[in-house]
Amino acid sequence: SGPQNVALIVGVTGIVGNSLAEILPVSETPGGPWKVYGVARRPRPSWNADHPVQYIQCDVSDAKQTQAKLSPLTDVTHIFWVTWGNRPTESECCDLNGAMFQNVLDAIMPNCPNLTHICVQTGHKHYIGPFEAFGKIKPHETPFVEDVPRLDAPNFYYTLEDVALDACKKKPGLTWSVHRPAVIFGFSPYSMMNMLDSLCVYAAICKHEKVPLKFPGTKAAWNCYFVASDADLIAEQQIWCSVDPNGKNEAFNCSNGDVFKWKHLWKVLADKFGVEYEEFDENQEYVSLAERMKDKGPVWDEIVKKNNLTPTKLEEVSTFWFVDLMFGGECMLDSMNKSKEHGFFGFRNSQNSLISVIDKMKAHKIVP
Ligand code: NAD
Repeated sequence: SGPQNVALIVGVTGIVGNSLAEILPVSETPGGPWKVYGVARRPRPSWNADHPVQYIQCDVSDAKQTQAKLSPLTDVTHIFWVTWGNRPTESECCDLNGAMFQNVLDAIMPNCPNLTHICVQTGHKHYIGPFEAFGKIKPHETPFVEDVPRLDAPNFYYTLEDVALDACKKKPGLTWSVHRPAVIFGFSPYSMMNMLDSLCVYAAICKHEKVPLKFPGTKAAWNCYFVASDADLIAEQQIWCSVDPNGKNEAFNCSNGDVFKWKHLWKVLADKFGVEYEEFDENQEYVSLAERMKDKGPVWDEIVKKNNLTPTKLEEVSTFWFVDLMFGGECMLDSMNKSKEHGFFGFRNSQNSLISVIDKMKAHKIVP
């Protein structure tokens, strides 16, 4: 057998990075036992600290810092790209995300002769266009399939693919895979887009204020079929691509393999927080969740104190703008055929996936 597999997770405290950090070190994981390095910007949070990972605090948008902190590594075999950076416009996002990725490759490639595979996580915006283009360019036909031409608009997902392909051209034997989840169901209080963490915080606030759990979205979002991507499932697909020849040099959708409706999951969410469930009300005026929650910072502080929770600020543990986007209209569905045809059969029950994220939020005392 070859050298031990050594992972570098870039974005180890993120929604999928945290799952990779939990799964990769387990000895039964394919390709295991893995040695794991994990990179993130901030000091290591308590909820990530139990994973047997060598934690490296590094801002990968800073080329010098990335060289200093990552060029000493000599044994990395696999890179898991599960991070991103935000800027006001998509063309700035292309520049920033391309540079972040290139900085890491420039530090790793010359020093890690056994580097064999790079997993790049992007998402459904590959088929829809970036947030700024929503409603302006025509998305691809649903259900999304992987092998369609690129849309005619700047998109940092395309930049990331180009950077990965370019690296593979330079090093014979180096392979890539691209992973395109829908909205992710996962646990990370540090995520820049976390729908379920935000909904848990919203439910806890409704409970505290003794008001029913109103659906903060459109009728279309309440009634339509939805798809989601469990963070552990995405980690499993990335690991599968890392070790199985059928997963190399391809892009794959990665959703749970079922459909659900929010009108059903809403009841589950309400029950988990002991808050009164409310049906969608046709006559209610639409108020965005970000708007509803804009003055709730002090209420959150009170909830944290009263329940002895891990100290957090409302703006840290919630990304209500993202919930508003997801609940703004109908969900666009994808196809998992290509992934299955290549040999990855993983799936999740989305309702159970929701429950397991809520349980993790409670276990780590992020919500009551
Ligand atoms: P995330 O926001 O959950 O986590 C980002 C991680 O990267 C964190 O660990 C953070 O500390 C780290 N990080 C951020 N900037 C950094 C920097 N400059 N240097 C070092 N570390 C840094 O990430 P995510 O949501 O998994 O996003 C990865 C990709 O997945 C993005 O392209 C995103 O658009 C896509 N995606 C996300 C979702 C979702 O629901 N969150 C859905 C579909 C696609």
